[in-house]
Amino acid sequence: MISNKMQEQVQSSSIIRAMFEEGKRLAGIHGAENVFDFSLGNPNVEPPEEVKRAILEILNTENSTSIHGYMNNSGFEEVRAAIAQSINDKFGTDFSQKNILMTVGAAGGLNVIFKTLLNPGDEVITFAPFFGEYRSYVKNYEGELVIISPNTLDFQPNLGEFKQKITPRTKAVIINSPNNPTGVIYSEETIIKLAEILSEKQKEFGTDIYLVSDEPYRELAYDHAEVPYLSKYYTNTIIGYSFSKSLSLPGERIGYLVIPDQAADFENIMVAANIANRILGYVNAPSLFQRVVAKCLDAKVDIETYNRNRELLYNGLVSYGYQCIKPEGAFYLFVKTPIESDVEFCNLAKEKNILIVPGTAFGCPGYVRIAYCVAYKTIEKALPGFKAIIEELK
Ligand code: PLP
Repeated sequence: MISNKMQEQVQSSSIIRAMFEEGKRLAGIHGAENVFDFSLGNPNVEPPEEVKRAILEILNTENSTSIHGYMNNSGFEEVRAAIAQSINDKFGTDFSQKNILMTVGAAGGLNVIFKTLLNPGDEVITFAPFFGEYRSYVKNYEGELVIISPNTLDFQPNLGEFKQKITPRTKAVIINSPNNPTGVIYSEETIIKLAEILSEKQKEFGTDIYLVSDEPYRELAYDHAEVPYLSKYYTNTIIGYSFSKSLSLPGERIGYLVIPDQAADFENIMVAANIANRILGYVNAPSLFQRVVAKCLDAKVDIETYNRNRELLYNGLVSYGYQCIKPEGAFYLFVKTPIESDVEFCNLAKEKNILIVPGTAFGCPGYVRIAYCVAYKTIEKALPGFKAIIEELK
C-alpha cells in the first residue's frame, strides 16, 4: 500500500547502498578481512582531535537545556556568524549570519534548496558523472533532472552540450567539485566559462538560474589544488557545504547552505529556505553538532591517509593496464572498465570479494567507482584481485 511515487523510488533504490549491504553479507560468509568493500564514501579517517575536545567542552561547560533545545530553524546565530566569518577569512567574501542556514548535512541542504526553488516541471541541470541521489532530490519536488553527457577526456563539464540544454524552464544547475565519483576538481577556467554561459542564458530568457554548488569534498583536495569559491564568479550561486567528509562526521548530519545577498530574490529565498527546513521535518540541524563544528572550523582530517591510498590504488591499477584519471580531490577513483558493461565488471569484481559501484549509478556507464576511504591494507589485499580480473579478460 505504499505510494506510487515511493514504489518507483524503491525500484530504483540506490545501487551504492545495495552494494554496502552485499558487503556485509559476504563478510558474514568469508570473514570481514577477506571482503574488500569500496562501495560507500564512508570516511575511514578519524575525526580530528578537536571534535572530541569540543564535544566534551560543550557538554561540560554549557547549559544543557540550551545545548539540546530548539532554536531558530536556520540554526544558532553565533554558529552561523562564526561560519560566515570563517568563509570570509578564507575566500575574501562578505557573508554574515543572515547568509547561512544550518542543515542536516549536504543532503538536507540540497532538499531544502530544491523545495525552496522548484515548481513542478522546473529543470535542474547536472553534469554526468554525478552523485546519483540528485535524481531523487530533484524528483522529490517534481523537478526534472536534465543530464549533460560526460566528457570522458578529462571529466570537466561538457559545456557545449550544456549551452544547448538550458531552457526557459532551467531553474538551477547543480555541480559538485571535487567530484564524486571522478575526484576531478572543476578548473577556474571551466567555472568562468560556465558562469558566462549562465549569465548569457539568463539574459536571453529573462530568467534567474541558480548555480548550486554541492561541496562536501571542498577540504579534500590533494597537492594544495585550488577549489574555486563559486560566489565570486556568478552572482546567483548557492553553496551547499557539509562536514560529513571534511571532519569525518557523516552520521552526525551537519552542514550548511550559503545564500549570498546578491542572489536574486535573496530575502524571499532565505525566508522560504528557513521554512522548508522546518516543514520538511528537519526543523533544524542537530543542535550539539552545530556548536561542535563552530569550534572546529579550522580543524582538518588527515588527508595524507587518503593520499597514500590514492597513490597505491591509482599506481597499482594503471600498472595492470586499467585506465583512469588521477583524482585531484575526494576519495574516489573512476576507472574505465576493460569490458563494455560496468555492471558485468562489478559482478566479476564481486567474485573476487571486491565491491565497487557501476558508473551507471552516476550516469556514466562503462566506468566503475572505487571509494578508497578504506584501510591501506584493504587496498593492498584487493589489488591482486583487480590484476587477476584484467588478466582473465585478455
Ligand atoms: N553530495 C555528494 C556529492 C556526496 O558525495 C554526498 C555524500 O556522499 C552528499 C552530497 C551527501 O552528503 P551529506 O552526508 O552531507 O548529506
